[in-house]
Amino acid sequence: MTITTPKTDSQRMNATLQSSCQWGSTPDGGMNRLALNDDDARVRRWFISETKALGCSVSIDAMGNIFAVRPGRRNLPPIAVGSHLDTQPTGGRYDGILGVLAGLEILKALQAAQYETDYPVAAVCWTNEEGARFVPSCLGSGVYAGDMSLEYGHTRTDTAGVSVRSELERHDMLGSMPASHTSNPLSAHFELHIEQGPILFEAGLPVAAVSGVQGWRWFEISLQGRGSHAGTTPFGYRRDPLIAFAKLVLAAEEIAKSHRGLCTIGRVGSAAIQSTNCVMDDVVFHLDIRHRQLEGMDALERAMRKEFARIVGGEEGVEIARWDTLSTVDPTVFDADAVNCVREAARLTGTAHDDLVSGAGHDSVFTARNCPTAMCFIRCRDGISHHPSEYSTPEDIAIGTETLLQAVLAYESKMAAKLA
Ligand SMILES: [Zn+2]
Repeated sequence: MTITTPKTDSQRMNATLQSSCQWGSTPDGGMNRLALNDDDARVRRWFISETKALGCSVSIDAMGNIFAVRPGRRNLPPIAVGSHLDTQPTGGRYDGILGVLAGLEILKALQAAQYETDYPVAAVCWTNEEGARFVPSCLGSGVYAGDMSLEYGHTRTDTAGVSVRSELERHDMLGSMPASHTSNPLSAHFELHIEQGPILFEAGLPVAAVSGVQGWRWFEISLQGRGSHAGTTPFGYRRDPLIAFAKLVLAAEEIAKSHRGLCTIGRVGSAAIQSTNCVMDDVVFHLDIRHRQLEGMDALERAMRKEFARIVGGEEGVEIARWDTLSTVDPTVFDADAVNCVREAARLTGTAHDDLVSGAGHDSVFTARNCPTAMCFIRCRDGISHHPSEYSTPEDIAIGTETLLQAVLAYESKMAAKLA
């Protein structure tokens, strides 16, 4: 038997990627494949039959996460390549899809070369990463990681009141295996993903290792003032929370910049009824802050709280009535060895950019809680994602897929060398 070095096949990878997009494609070239809808079920069934045809053993857990495992010489937890097949309602053909199909292509490359590994190698499809149909995002990987309970995962509903569990049952995707890293562990998790930002595109480089994912904190803040008549209340008598809010918006951006973080106010409203000729009674808004490091995140939040209190304190009759935390996810630092394997492989396959930190959340944030994890980003046109115009070239996809294969092989042989 001749054993050749495994190599991914660019044409095959790109053809598979496009043909799998027949399920959920939209006339504008984009995708609408919401988690666990009929098209998502179709592409999942296709993924299962493709990996079974390669001789993989396929199992589905209680969250519908699919694990297609190519056996190794030893019965060890697999080294996985995973991402998601669901999309935004006006999504593209690359976000997530690329990562799962890179896993499939890597399995094909190993099989074509009849290459044996000590560790099993798996392609994984995580359920409902986007959070577009069922809030929150990363539901499948979040339950698997133990961050969310199975009960929580199953009882999430879409806007029509349909639950995750009922959809899993309807598609026969409610697996008997527990959705848990303890009963179904992975030795490592690698993920190929489009960058979803402009850095690689601007730099003119195809690929980069990802060293971590920035954390985020979401707050709901309520500023209470006093509603009054727009025509009869002189400025000096007003208790207008919107004036305080306007000052906060400008201050927040300056604070985030000076802390090398990000902030976004993406929702603004009022608990009270609004009217054209009334001073507002209250302003309720959501603040999203992001940072790469935990200490930086803490400092950013402290500075926001201090400055907001100072500004509102200067507005007579207005107060911060409520500051609720909606969600907090600490920054993720990926495993140094796994990142190093991606970095080295990226250098071999092309000119790699320096390591990046992901601005968006991914399934790898959750796998990183329990197993060595790393990601590889490829360039996407204009940095655009979550839109039908999302695009990566076949050449960049080829570089990314080959990078990931070589990273997996390098990591596997390092791990195998440590076995007795
Ligand atoms: Zn994604």
